[in-house]
Amino acid sequence: MNKLLAISLCVILAGASLSGCFGERGDTIDDALHNDDEDINQHNGNVSDETTVNPYGIICPDGSNGTLQWGVMTCAEPEVFKASDVSNETVNLTLQWYKIAVAEWGNYGPVEIYIIGNDTDAAKQLEDDYCERHKALDSNWKEEWDCANDNYQIFTRYIEDGGAAISTLKRTYLDYDFMMMIMSAKYPGPEEEDYKPVTLHEYFHIFQHSHLEGECTGDSRDACERDVKMGGKDTPWWSEGGAEYMAQKLYSNQEGVRANYLQDVMRWKLDSSREGYNNQNVSLNNLTRDSQINAYDVGSWFIAYLIHHEGEDAFLNGFYTDIDDLGFNLAFENNFNKTKYQYVADFDMFFKQPVEDIMAIIPSNTGINQDSSMDN
Ligand SMILES: [Zn+2]
Repeated sequence: MNKLLAISLCVILAGASLSGCFGERGDTIDDALHNDDEDINQHNGNVSDETTVNPYGIICPDGSNGTLQWGVMTCAEPEVFKASDVSNETVNLTLQWYKIAVAEWGNYGPVEIYIIGNDTDAAKQLEDDYCERHKALDSNWKEEWDCANDNYQIFTRYIEDGGAAISTLKRTYLDYDFMMMIMSAKYPGPEEEDYKPVTLHEYFHIFQHSHLEGECTGDSRDACERDVKMGGKDTPWWSEGGAEYMAQKLYSNQEGVRANYLQDVMRWKLDSSREGYNNQNVSLNNLTRDSQINAYDVGSWFIAYLIHHEGEDAFLNGFYTDIDDLGFNLAFENNFNKTKYQYVADFDMFFKQPVEDIMAIIPSNTGINQDSSMDN
């Protein structure tokens, strides 16, 4: 009946890394980036150059001139908004891990981080603040469906459901494009180790979306090119497999993380998905979020397999540089020298091997930061 959730809501559900995601609701109609963006910088204020005015110009935290524009690396830091019951400690923790992701994958924006606690009224207040903020930022903001309502509980749903998400607010009718990172108080909560890799996971979605310029309508019934380039509408293998594997791998190399972390996580994903996946006929790229088989887990293994053979550079820099111009299938073939169908078929053979042979492709922690502390 109406515009539903804002897109690419990816919710990491309970427990270990059992996850679920809401697909992108929205669509790409054209590749034009901001045809009319006069008011894009209302909130940034500082337009830098006096001769050629950069509509995305900002002043960086260090005082130099910079740019804050979708898909362009930026000096800007994310804007953080927390519910009133969320501690500054949680804000700092979130930013700490956000910055680790940025240092690894590049700084993209604009990003607004919303951190939800346990209090419904506080989450409601944050929804009101969000609504007012964007009404002021964008004259095309549609209060009736872009702000929270009975069918669109932007933040309050996290009180019950927990999880984390990225919403991509890059729509045909909006002038101010941004991504919203939502973190909550459970599944995982900030006191859990999982909160850290989940923050990295969500940031990887920002990396993915920043390489796509297309705009969606905001109506889930409309076709959206962004879905296709993310690996298919409601088929999480590529986007979630990539976010999950890259996040766990990055996390495993951080100071103080136990030596076998990545092996343990990938072994757990393997044990929970291998038999089920191998004994059914739906190919990985067609598994949906509703499937019995966890496409996040098998997808993570697919990306591990892909990177083992092609190298991380071909994935991160090669594929993601090509994706928007070439589309998914061609960018895939260009960088990995096989079609995605061939690659999935090869992966299926790989995934039928004995567990020890499968596990052998997972790199051990680099340990660069671990020499100083002998004890785990
Ligand atoms: Zn995700």
